[in-house]
Amino acid sequence: IDSRLPQVGTTIFTVMSRLAQECGAINLSQGFPDFNAEDVLFERVAHWMRAGFNQYAPMAGVGPLREAIAHKVAALYGTAYDPETEITVTAGATQALFTAVAALVHPGDEVIVFEPVYDSYAPAIELQGGRVVRLQLAAPGYRPDWDAVAAAITPRTRMIMINSPHNPTATVWTADDLAGLAAATRGTGIVVVSDEVYEHIVFDGRRHESCARDAELAARSVIVSSFGKTYHITGWKVGYVVAPRELMAEFRKVHQFNVFTVNTPVQLALADYMADASRHEGLAAFYQAKRDFFGAGLAGSRFELLPSAGTYFQLARYRAICDEPDTAFVERLTRDSGVAAIPVSAFFADGRDERVLRFCFAKNEATLAAACERLCRV
Ligand code: PMP
Ligand code: GLN
Repeated sequence: IDSRLPQVGTTIFTVMSRLAQECGAINLSQGFPDFNAEDVLFERVAHWMRAGFNQYAPMAGVGPLREAIAHKVAALYGTAYDPETEITVTAGATQALFTAVAALVHPGDEVIVFEPVYDSYAPAIELQGGRVVRLQLAAPGYRPDWDAVAAAITPRTRMIMINSPHNPTATVWTADDLAGLAAATRGTGIVVVSDEVYEHIVFDGRRHESCARDAELAARSVIVSSFGKTYHITGWKVGYVVAPRELMAEFRKVHQFNVFTVNTPVQLALADYMADASRHEGLAAFYQAKRDFFGAGLAGSRFELLPSAGTYFQLARYRAICDEPDTAFVERLTRDSGVAAIPVSAFFADGRDERVLRFCFAKNEATLAAACERLCRV
């Protein structure tokens, strides 16, 4: 086969979840909660199904959900997006990111990403004939270097893809970082694709710096979020995109042909559920308690925890345990110690290995306690 993606195999999330299952290990690898969403959400889905809302939704998403998204974004970030022309409901953030790239990147265009980078970005760019320009974030701080960004920008730079709170490093951009991005892209035609799927999971009193907060940046940004992270329903695969009208028009040209539209009763249920803002407002404290519980449980271990400022991930070094490559160590940890994690080298194109693992703490306390007990014996 003449592969379009010769470098690509099976995603690390699939590989590690499968290994965890095979070994009966506690799965702290792929990011998903092991607890359920609230019954009231399921009741709303059943309600809309029984009421007969089981046919195609409008291409951009059901009206009430787009209204609810507009309301939330305006309330939190102060920017008004028109539900008619500037908001689209997607089949998760993955489809949103892929569609944004497909709609806006021409063959030969350069797209800047920051490594470690979420695994779906580069293949999406390459499939459009785009060139991935990788800038490095280095442990332990993983901060963007704006001089390096400025130096990487060329006349071919079409897009820059960012992600804060960041998977896998659990760093959160500050207002200064956002100002750096605005300055670096000022006066260029560069589109910012901002992956904000963990927007509600920021810790220790931090504020999520959405591109929607900055009018200048918002004017050239496609902002992506996901209900999977916010409402504990990663398997529902529903997310959304907000962008200024001209960008959204291009996005929808592709969206209408790669999914057309998303599950109708689920969208209506999410619109009802979003009406109570405390549900997303409470998420940061909810996950901060889990981060702290997991961290306290590992205090007696030989893992060295890096700061987790947001997301539901915790990075850990293991240099006090061994100097094995992270892929070998994580396999041994899964098989012999019964805890699966993600090797952070999977987020680097050249497999750069800083001997760091990513653990997902979106788990019940009983799961985290059992995992910590095992990890303290390593
Ligand atoms: N971007 C990032 C940074 C993610 O962590 C994830 C999911 N883990 C996604 C995108 C994809 O989200 P979804 O499941 O809604 O497609
Ligand atoms: N985004 C999730 C993670 O980082 C995994 C999603 C997937 O399996 N594609 O773990």
